Amino acid sequence: MSTSTEKAPWHGIPRGDIPWYPTIDAETCIGCQLCYVTCGRNVFEMKEAHAVAVDPMNCAVGCSTCANICPTAAISFPPLDAVWKLERERQIFRTVKKEAQRKEAREEVRKAREAAQKALEAVSTRAKVEIAGEFGEKRFLVRLEELIEGRPFDIVNLRLEVPTVKGAKQKAPSYMTFEVTSERQEDISAFLGEIKQLVHDASLVLVSDQRL
Ligand code: SF4
Ligand code: SF4
Repeated sequence: MSTSTEKAPWHGIPRGDIPWYPTIDAETCIGCQLCYVTCGRNVFEMKEAHAVAVDPMNCAVGCSTCANICPTAAISFPPLDAVWKLERERQIFRTVKKEAQRKEAREEVRKAREAAQKALEAVSTRAKVEIAGEFGEKRFLVRLEELIEGRPFDIVNLRLEVPTVKGAKQKAPSYMTFEVTSERQEDISAFLGEIKQLVHDASLVLVSDQRL
């Protein structure tokens, strides 16, 4: 058996004072390795095709998962009475109460962080807009320029796709894509609404608007 490192106390009780650890009956163990892969505390190692409890006092007090799942019932634990007796004698519930308060405080901080992160993710500072229609006489670009004039938004990566020059002359539909950005990294939702209104007023078709 390997030498255990110093264990953390269990609700104020030194771990070494608590009689809770697995014992394996080597005769009964069939070496299936289920306990070895299941235990998250590295209590077991496999030696010569049998499980060995190499760090028994690293077992979580009160846990008996490995014993419950062992197919041959080769793992046993001491009676729980000794643990219950210790809980009473050492009055661990004062410690537990303080631990619970600290846990609640940590949980509140974690939830507040998650809520702040979600709120941040909900803010869109950039969106891609795709429009179709006949742009030439509608002076759409001029109106777009007027809309952003003096405001903390910009239109970038603007592309106008005209299928053919002849087609444009014949007023065949063209496509325009651009990205709306916020210079102050603020939410652009309301401004995007104004752009949609502009598209509608110019009798163009909003093909898509995608938050980036
Ligand atoms: S689960 Fe049981 S049978 Fe399987 S290796 Fe562990 S002690 Fe042995
Ligand atoms: S009872 Fe739980 S913690 Fe203890 S050895 Fe088994 S699986 Fe690991």
